[in-house]
Amino acid sequence: MAEAGEQRLQLGVIGDPIAHSLSPVLHSFLIAKLGLSYEYRAYRVASSELQAFLQQARASDFAGLNVTIPHKERVLAYLDGLSADARQLGAVNTIVRQGGQLIGYNTDGLGFRRALEAKVVKLAGRSAIVLGAGGAARAVVYALIGGGIGRLTLANRTLNRAEELAWQLSANTGFQAIYTCALADMARLNRAIAEAELLVNATSVGLAPAVDRSPLSDAAPLHPGLVVYDLVYRPPRTRLLRQAQAAGARPLSGLEMLIYQGIESLCLWTGRPRGEFYIWAEELQKYLLSYAGKPGRE
Ligand code: NAP
Repeated sequence: MAEAGEQRLQLGVIGDPIAHSLSPVLHSFLIAKLGLSYEYRAYRVASSELQAFLQQARASDFAGLNVTIPHKERVLAYLDGLSADARQLGAVNTIVRQGGQLIGYNTDGLGFRRALEAKVVKLAGRSAIVLGAGGAARAVVYALIGGGIGRLTLANRTLNRAEELAWQLSANTGFQAIYTCALADMARLNRAIAEAELLVNATSVGLAPAVDRSPLSDAAPLHPGLVVYDLVYRPPRTRLLRQAQAAGARPLSGLEMLIYQGIESLCLWTGRPRGEFYIWAEELQKYLLSYAGKPGRE
């Protein structure tokens, strides 16, 4: 149990923007419930400041950090070591400071898989389309292949990033049923959506404060056989999820993924078993929902 006046170990999340992040609320809730001696804060760190910030963190009393947009891939260059997962994905969302060294991990894929399991979404043999090719998309696509997905389309604004990711995926996993398209290529995009059983938004489109935006137009062929999973969790009902509901598809918010990837980070930092955190997951979700609709503050 944390005692009054006791020195608390520092944890935090770095990103730019960072006002939308619910990670401080999530971690502070679990730290308080378990009576841990940690303090968790948000740090807005621009890309130009990333190296200097991590240099400082390495020499300070930080126990660990989460990493969010847009640093998940770029941060690899400034770390001292990587877990096998983070190395394969080429993306880090959790840094652990061990003996003055910064080691990168990735808990997004585990969080995504656990969130789908909680909603009983089956993957084996299914057809999926993932929008985005950034750090979060990387974790999602490896998790989908690990879950036995049958066919995968990667659609991204910048087509060559999707092509590069598809190439890496088939080289690293042997999975060959991967197709790519540009988000602006309506004919190919609509065909892939019409054939899909799972659509995952791993772009940052729709994230507060741009809550009226969606990666898809209202004419996109969303359909009743489709699960639409939006990694954007703020607001909890994004425009994409409203489009999904209107089309009879099943909308799922990224809030549960946030909770489960956060718990995996806490396990890495504290060495506590995940079961100690899981018992708070339901209460935490209600607590986060009461925050997620409100605008964030810098
Ligand atoms: P990232 O590495 O910066 O990647 C951003 C992705 O969004 C890229 O594919 C980018 O396309 C695309 N994008 C950005 N602006 C766009 C626009 N105006 N139109 C179309 N595409 C656009 O970010 P990330 O770390 O992968 O995070 C992506 C989102 O997932 C964020 O909203 C983040 O909050 C969310 N996330 C949620 C969870 C969770 O637990 N629920 C976990 C991780 C991430 P280009 O390649 O063309 O630039």
